[in-house]
Amino acid sequence: MQTLQMPRLPGLRFGRSDSEVICDHLENDLSNHALREDLLCQGHHRIHIVIPTTVFDCEINPQLGGFTCPQLASALVNVIPEFKRTGIDPVICLMPCEDTKRARAILAGRAVHEVAHLLTARKMASDEISEADRKNAIPLSQTLGSPPSSWPVYAGQKKWATHEASFIRACLHLHSRMVARGWDIPLQLTGNWHAYGYEDIEAYADLLEREIRIAGNSPIRQILDAPAPGRFLELWTSETSDSE
Ligand SMILES: [Zn+2]
Repeated sequence: MQTLQMPRLPGLRFGRSDSEVICDHLENDLSNHALREDLLCQGHHRIHIVIPTTVFDCEINPQLGGFTCPQLASALVNVIPEFKRTGIDPVICLMPCEDTKRARAILAGRAVHEVAHLLTARKMASDEISEADRKNAIPLSQTLGSPPSSWPVYAGQKKWATHEASFIRACLHLHSRMVARGWDIPLQLTGNWHAYGYEDIEAYADLLEREIRIAGNSPIRQILDAPAPGRFLELWTSETSDSE
């Protein structure tokens, strides 16, 4: 996640790429199925996925797979016409994918990752910017143009910062719901897990398997409010206690 200032954005360009078509399918399955209960609970209508190159007129760092924060929605109020009618709804940005064979899996993995950030934020979409956020804010164009490792939100933080246990949990619940909708998404595509210090994301998935089965389609944010299974937390604690 990242804080930002409200940018002046150019209008949408025309022409639809394969990535945009895949993002439409992702939007539909997230909005109407995997995230439906969470959106209803927060009074939202749907989730929007935008391809940064179609809405931001700036250089975008090639390392960036996706980007979101609750305030992104209000930054795009002039770009997503529906917001004038519905009020703001959550938004994630996904980088287009050139790998045509794996584009569906890669974009779906990125979507699960970015939505998990919104699921672990205080709100999924917000037009509130706190004083602390404002102080740390850098222009969105600068954020998108620089490698995520240089973003102020990660400065001096542990390598798993913003991808803590609750993030893993949200990600695994959402991943399982998207797989149930027919998306074939290897877990490795849902995060840069080794870089965050996690040896084996499959081990976390195994320890959460029962919770995921029992939870059904309950709002994921509600699931996160209850304590995580003990062994899941133990694994996370053991992986994060002795590393920098
Ligand atoms: Zn992330």
